[in-house]
Amino acid sequence: VIRCRAAVAWAVGKPLSVEEVEVAPPKAGEVRIKIVAAGICHTEEHTLKGSLPNVEFPVIPGHEGAGIVESIGEGVASVKPGDKVIPLCIPQCGECSFCLNPESNFCQKSHLCEPQNLLPDKTSRFTCKGKQIHHFLWVSTFAEYTVIPEYAVAKIDAAAPLDKVCLFGCGFSTGYGAAINTAKVKPGSTCAIFGLGGVGLSVVMGCKAAGASRIIAVDINKDKFARAKELGATDCINPRDFQKPIQEVLTEMTGQGVDYSFEVIGHADTMIAALASCNMNTGICVMVGVLDSGSEISIDPMLLLTGRTWKGTVLGGWKMRDAIPKLVSSYLDKKFNSDLLITHTLPFAKVNEGFELLRAGK
Ligand code: NAD
Ligand code: ZN
Repeated sequence: VIRCRAAVAWAVGKPLSVEEVEVAPPKAGEVRIKIVAAGICHTEEHTLKGSLPNVEFPVIPGHEGAGIVESIGEGVASVKPGDKVIPLCIPQCGECSFCLNPESNFCQKSHLCEPQNLLPDKTSRFTCKGKQIHHFLWVSTFAEYTVIPEYAVAKIDAAAPLDKVCLFGCGFSTGYGAAINTAKVKPGSTCAIFGLGGVGLSVVMGCKAAGASRIIAVDINKDKFARAKELGATDCINPRDFQKPIQEVLTEMTGQGVDYSFEVIGHADTMIAALASCNMNTGICVMVGVLDSGSEISIDPMLLLTGRTWKGTVLGGWKMRDAIPKLVSSYLDKKFNSDLLITHTLPFAKVNEGFELLRAGK
């Protein structure tokens, strides 16, 4: 058993509390990882607010991180102590029908198909003050050590800087893949991205890498525009600067509406605006933002009848175990610069300050 620090969410709406926890050794088929760096994704904020379904408290959140294998359970063959790894909040068992389908990345042997935030054997490896603490999406990267099923771990290049590639566990991969895999953005096309947080800016990067000729970035916080331009946005617009709905502004800017639109915020009204912003016939709109659990969206069916496609994405459509090591290699080969997504670096004890910065749009 390892004693270390972890940020525990004891109840909905409470700040995280950095506590000493006990982390049990990995059982058969599991890996214990020393987490070196973690990012903060807005999905974490949804979790702390209690608006993500099936999350039981107390829980150790965090799903975007990178670390080093500390020990392995019986039968683990794909990683060994000392390997650099990224924990995967969508695993890849390699055997289920979705893993066998080249078009899918939604492994059925995951916490999402069997809602519970314990490990697959329905127990936890975390205790704090004598109480069992839940895992989060199996990864719980806000702990100095965490235990994860082997098929939810991706081994990456030993040269990778963990404080930079931790973003590949969620934010970067989601946004970049939403453009490349889910929308399949074509060269010369026009794109609109609603929401320029870490994930939305990664969509901008994906659209640019796919060769889009016009990339329109949309946010109500104009402080995000300089970074968006640096990453490839050709136009940046603030819906609050216009009298008319933003979908009309985008349609006028592009003639018929964009070829691809992305909602990367998580609000029903911006989901509808993004859908209406892509062209009525061949436009593709990708839903990336997470709505509060139980929310519903009502749309005019004509929006789809004329031919538009509306789709969602989980982690950018990547088959995570296969894709993450390749994305890390591309990063090391300088194919893109995801370091520009990093705005602040804080010591672990200041994790709540990180959330303050996220809430403040910094
Ligand atoms: P973030 O908080 O860093 O960024 C959100 C951005 O949206 C901010 O820049 C904010 O100013 C902007 N915004 C808010 N309201 C707006 C409005 N009405 N119009 C235009 N812009 C507005 O968030 P993030 O970490 O980038 O995450 C974005 C969303 O993606 C969240 O909902 C998150 O849960 C979701 N997400 C989904 C997946 C997935 O697999 N589908 C993965 C990761 C994150
Ligand atoms: Zn995330």
